[in-house]
Amino acid sequence: MPRPIHASISLAALSHNLDVVRRHLDQAARAAAGTAPSIWAVIKANAYGHGIETAVAGFSAAQGLAMLDLAEAVRCREAGWGGPILLLEGFFQPADLELIDRYHLSATVHTREQLDMLAHARPSRRVDIMLKLNTGMNRLGFSPDAYGSAHARALQLREQGCVGTIGKMTHFACADGAQGVAGQMQVFRHATRGLADGPVSVCNSAATLRYPEIAVAHGSQAHWVRPGICLYGASPFDDVAAASFGLRPVMSLRSQIIGVQDLPAGAEVGYGATFRAPRPMRVGVVACGYADGYPRHAGTGTPVMVGGVRTRLVGRVSMDMLMVDLDPVPAAGIGMPVSLWGHDGPSVDEVAQAAGTIGYELLCALAPRVPVRREP
Ligand SMILES: *Cc1c(COP(=O)(O)O)cnc(C)c1O
Repeated sequence: MPRPIHASISLAALSHNLDVVRRHLDQAARAAAGTAPSIWAVIKANAYGHGIETAVAGFSAAQGLAMLDLAEAVRCREAGWGGPILLLEGFFQPADLELIDRYHLSATVHTREQLDMLAHARPSRRVDIMLKLNTGMNRLGFSPDAYGSAHARALQLREQGCVGTIGKMTHFACADGAQGVAGQMQVFRHATRGLADGPVSVCNSAATLRYPEIAVAHGSQAHWVRPGICLYGASPFDDVAAASFGLRPVMSLRSQIIGVQDLPAGAEVGYGATFRAPRPMRVGVVACGYADGYPRHAGTGTPVMVGGVRTRLVGRVSMDMLMVDLDPVPAAGIGMPVSLWGHDGPSVDEVAQAAGTIGYELLCALAPRVPVRREP
């Protein structure tokens, strides 16, 4: 028998979360007397660890899908996705444009070199592009000074027949925090003012949830949002739980107790003896370790559910196992179900916080050795 650990992925939660975002945007559109934006569901990094094919099935009601990896984009087409696919980093070499053409993908364009590659390509149909503006995050994008001429160059390429629609796009650095998006939006509006119409895309999950009004379209301008993490039922915010938006966790990481130790007061637990029993206590050994993707930085006190009862991790997480305090669960013994995060456990964000990271990292880091069960 394989180790008792597995991750289950709920298709119903994926489509539920997409629906939550959809309704949130509809409400903002009504309040602003405009049109709700379309949704590119972001499925980069193997759909944040949930599996590309599962995400394609769960997000069948999205208008588009967005990711970075060409091979993942091809898998979407092979899984039957016929709608728009946006490559968030565009293409890296001329040969990529052949796949973009063959699989009818849209591309973010953020460098002059990419415009050059487009100029030399002979695609069988026009490539739709999103021209990316760096509004202050200083990651990808043309500087505000260079944006106008990049846009003019893209218009030329459209006249030559290699480019289709030319959209405008940026990415926020602080939509989840106190700084917000106002400064970057001001740069965006200024640098894109007067440029020919085309789709606009600015919002990630945090901005979609917190500032949906900036994605509301007026007139003929098409808008798209790019939510990722919230669609998987985790929060983009440090201080607001995903559940407070009505989002449901999609991934549940579960295992079992495979050993029990009855400890006298003063006994030490695990590598480095970082935990010492303050009194006689029972400790359970769970088949889940950092080689499964559970964060080694999660220390004593990290929440864990054992047999439906909330308890805590004790000592250091090791490669294949971790230990938990069984005092709150006197009935616990070998084989008792353990929920590390998800539907019937603590939220992935709580575990991440205890480990000094974010839910994104834990979801993406689910190890390939953990069997995944897709649930309806
Ligand atoms: C990852 C990413 C997103 C989605 O971000 P979330 O915080 O997961 O919503 C949107 N846009 C770009 C360009 C990204 O790289």
